[in-house]
Amino acid sequence: MKRIVLLGPPGAGKGTQAAFIARHFEIPHISTGEMLRAAIGAGTELGIRAKGFLDAGQLVPDALMIDVVRDRLAASDCRHGFLLDGFPRTLAQANALDRLLAELRLGLTHVVLFQAPPAELEQRLLGRAEKEGRSDDTREVIAERLKVYETKTSPLVSYYRGNGGVLAIDAVGSVDAIRERVLREIEGRARAAR
Ligand code: AMP
Repeated sequence: MKRIVLLGPPGAGKGTQAAFIARHFEIPHISTGEMLRAAIGAGTELGIRAKGFLDAGQLVPDALMIDVVRDRLAASDCRHGFLLDGFPRTLAQANALDRLLAELRLGLTHVVLFQAPPAELEQRLLGRAEKEGRSDDTREVIAERLKVYETKTSPLVSYYRGNGGVLAIDAVGSVDAIRERVLREIEGRARAAR
């Protein structure tokens, strides 16, 4: 059974690879960014509370995100594993996830880190902005999201390195090549059982 967290800066191709990984291992792909965009589209209370943060490239407050993920992980389709894409993004979220999993007597089986050089990330994000028209993909917001990743999310890499280990993936190359790399790494190596 796979319980996977994906880490990596915006533009590293996490979302694309997450879809492949989830399909391959037949586990739900839980993208908090997608959940928030869907909530905004549907005009739910969560969407209304989250919209300003997404538009500014800022993180939605931890308490709100932790509630969203707690509910999602309680759904029956997560009983046989899950893939978290975009959560946790802060140390507070990582601690909350640890507590949640401890309550369920579960541990993460893999933490996968996608790595790509900053210039490449910015270029990819700008390219995606033109193609998809995401409202958080303007040049200013992209710069903000990269900064937020550095300050708030990148500390999670050492957190997980010291807490079961991280699989680092070189996220430069074709989508197919990276997919092969990721699947090989995940199949080859699990974290120490906790
Ligand atoms: P993503 O699609 O993962 O890049 O997420 C898009 C946006 O959703 C982020 O820039 C944040 O504003 C918000 N978001 C997604 N996941 C989280 C999270 N775990 N914590 C806080 N904000 C989040």
